[in-house]
Amino acid sequence: MSTTTSNYPEIRDAVKKLCERFPGEYWRVLDDTATYPTEFVQALTDAGYLSVLIPEQYGGAALPLAAACAILEEVQRSGGNAAACHAQMYTMGTLLRHGSEEQKAQYLPGIAKGELRLQAFGVTEPTSGTDTTRIRTRAVRDGDDYIVNGQKVFISRAEHSDLMILLARTTPRDECEKTSGGMSVFIVDMREAVGNGLTINPLKTMINHGTTELFFDNLRVPVANRIGEEGKGFKYILDGMNAERILIASECIGDARFFIDRASDYACEREVFGAPIGVNQGIQFPIARNYVETEAAALMVLNAANLFDEGQPCGSEANMCKMAASEASWHSADTCLQTHGGFGFTRDYDIERKFREARLYQIAPISTNLILSHVGTHVLGMPKSF
Ligand SMILES: Cc1cc2nc3c(=O)[nH]c(=O)nc-3n(C[C@H](O)[C@H](O)[C@H](O)COP(=O)(O)OP(=O)(O)OC[C@H]3O[C@@H](n4cnc5c(N)ncnc54)[C@H](O)[C@@H]3O)c2cc1C
Repeated sequence: MSTTTSNYPEIRDAVKKLCERFPGEYWRVLDDTATYPTEFVQALTDAGYLSVLIPEQYGGAALPLAAACAILEEVQRSGGNAAACHAQMYTMGTLLRHGSEEQKAQYLPGIAKGELRLQAFGVTEPTSGTDTTRIRTRAVRDGDDYIVNGQKVFISRAEHSDLMILLARTTPRDECEKTSGGMSVFIVDMREAVGNGLTINPLKTMINHGTTELFFDNLRVPVANRIGEEGKGFKYILDGMNAERILIASECIGDARFFIDRASDYACEREVFGAPIGVNQGIQFPIARNYVETEAAALMVLNAANLFDEGQPCGSEANMCKMAASEASWHSADTCLQTHGGFGFTRDYDIERKFREARLYQIAPISTNLILSHVGTHVLGMPKSF
């Protein structure tokens, strides 16, 4: 066992056991029919894994982010896909760190009990793309409510969530001192919103991710549902985004380990020209290289998670570990497919499905280019292109 898989051994073992109830065939059928993994999410919820970050006073386990990382990593390593429910862990960063006592008391116990789902995170818009400061969804104050108008795209799990953390502009961009100012974060109760100003349209994509487009047409959101101060929302969601990047990086590590396990097993079993294909260094070395790359990325993930848990700045570390881990998983995916030859393309091996799923993480939740830009400008001090 490597140092990067030795933390939280009991949790890892228990998650592994739970995932054995949801084998490749389960995920394949869902993938074929673009169906949400309700039974899997329920099992994770019942076991308490989706509320590990919630403080004990609200019914959670009060574990650090590193524990949540171990859970998601094991789900991915088992061949499953935690994307159906991982958002509950990262959206928590915004609510836990910046929500009022009333908001935490109102929502956290229900989430901890599994009665409420906080699975949707509404940031991306079709016209702004990665440039979040240009979002156009507006929330305009009207008495005790805000009236929300606008559009979001790629908002995953919106149809399967009771609550959504929404980012909207409360002050037009050109009236703000800083372009990242003037945005606010809201908790939207989807149960009331759908049909009363919020429309959800599912989007078909190359993976089974339950992603959607959202249309806001005079949706009323109570002022009481605003998290923190008006105009400081971008700062608040950054905590959620750092957690998101670290958690997704741990999923990528789990994916990489899935591909490496599968590739090395197959390389030992498959005999061609009278010998296991793994005897050939052309097969063996790429898998070994993937292992080294994955171990390095896993150490970066642990480091970022520890900084997050200590409450220290970790924006660069979160970005860098996500880039390293998503590249490790993608390179491992490619090697695994190559190792399996034609059989890698058949659906029964689950490799083509995991290959498609792993590709997402070089684009979402932030693309590799934007991470390189962050490192180039914020870490290394070179000039910014935008
Ligand atoms: C399956 C899926 C699920 C998602 N779930 C959610 C969700 O739940 N909530 C949510 O808010 N969002 C979600 N997203 C959105 C995701 O975060 C965005 O797709 C991602 O941030 C990239 O934004 P974009 O698609 O608008 O790409 P764009 O910003 O249009 O970028 C397109 C390409 O151009 C590159 N690029 C852009 N600007 C520059 C530059 N200055 N320099 C160099 N390269 C540049 C990018 O790296 C990218 O490769 C999801 C996306 C997908 C595909």
